[in-house]
Amino acid sequence: MFVISVFAMSQASIAQEKDDALLFANYFTGNSMRYDFHHAGNSENEYYYFDKVVREGEWAGSKVSLINPFDYGEQMFWIIDSATGTVIYKNNYCTLFNEWQTTPEAKHTPRSFPESVIFPEPKSCFTIEFFARNKKSKEWEKKHSQAINANDYNIRPFANKHENIDIHIGGNVANSLDIVLLPDGFTAEEKEKFIESCRMWSDALFSYSPFTQNKHRINIRAVWAPSEESGISIPGNREWKKTLLDTRFYTFGSERYQMTEEFQKVRDVAANAPYETIFILTNSDKYGGGGIYNFYGLGSAGKTGRTGEVYVHEFGHSLMGLGDEYVETGNTVSALYPEGKEPWEANLTRFVNFNGKWEKRIEEGTPIPTVAAPGSTEKEWKIGAYEGGGYLEKGIYRGWPECMMKALTDFCPVCQDAISRYLDYLCK
Ligand SMILES: [Zn+2]
Repeated sequence: MFVISVFAMSQASIAQEKDDALLFANYFTGNSMRYDFHHAGNSENEYYYFDKVVREGEWAGSKVSLINPFDYGEQMFWIIDSATGTVIYKNNYCTLFNEWQTTPEAKHTPRSFPESVIFPEPKSCFTIEFFARNKKSKEWEKKHSQAINANDYNIRPFANKHENIDIHIGGNVANSLDIVLLPDGFTAEEKEKFIESCRMWSDALFSYSPFTQNKHRINIRAVWAPSEESGISIPGNREWKKTLLDTRFYTFGSERYQMTEEFQKVRDVAANAPYETIFILTNSDKYGGGGIYNFYGLGSAGKTGRTGEVYVHEFGHSLMGLGDEYVETGNTVSALYPEGKEPWEANLTRFVNFNGKWEKRIEEGTPIPTVAAPGSTEKEWKIGAYEGGGYLEKGIYRGWPECMMKALTDFCPVCQDAISRYLDYLCK
């Protein structure tokens, strides 16, 4: 198996840093391109089966930040210019398939999930290469490679079908984070209800630092696309609804885990607005949601309980893969966070590569592990390494006692730093 060296990756980044402005105009048309495939396998193996290439609208990402330098995610893909062999685009992400691989079903029943990645449309022939992390070593392994002629007549055009509506416009498309909000389970009569939910989503996001301070470089647009039936499927109650994106509760047997397996349908609706990141609002009062890095986030739009906080928590996952900082009592082993391997999430550490995380923000003399005195308040806390996180009680650490990624409070200083860095990259 081919394993990417850190050296090769840093070389790709350097090539990009040197001629930023030139690179985009030299290699890309300015449109978005989408590669659809099926991600199939079982608990041990994964395979990628090509479906189609679609040419979409305006590229909404940065024209400067083309090589994602953050080593986040379980999956990664590269676009290589065939004439020069240069890596001209790279991005990282996670998938529902990878989560499914950890379920009991994956041990005995192979399955496939529709998936898709987007990237700026290359002007000429290119190769797309996919990499996945090895389950045990966590090293990248090359999984799939395909040469594509950018002028192939099989590349499909995308026709806009749905209206898009501005919810909040902070800046221009290229230098802002472009978020698209999609409806599921809203009928034609429920348009206003959806738009109101989008406004609430926007208000919730901007009420938390560091999003508050970055309002001027974040755009939020909604795509209006009605469903045949109102509400969301709840398989555990034997309730099924005909909805646009086929969202349902009870994903992988977990009642509150609300997701859709139809990712290409999600892309079809999202492409009606310029976008970089997707969040789905479902027409349900039932508590639940989910968020997967560079895939999509999802939350119930019913105004019950802590809807706004759930939105922002799930967006922390889907925007940049922040890890859950909470503990599941009695949980000692996790396939997600094997012992001796540093989690790739910016807000969790096993001290394998603490230096690359928030270690430098810890004041001298702070005990490691750090313990918050019983009854102490936020004013007395210090950035440290507090044991427990990533669903585990022991052996994994977070930087602050409380966080949006733990108990739906404000983002901790470690997460705030990581989000700010990520926005700086996306909004160049
Ligand atoms: Zn945090």
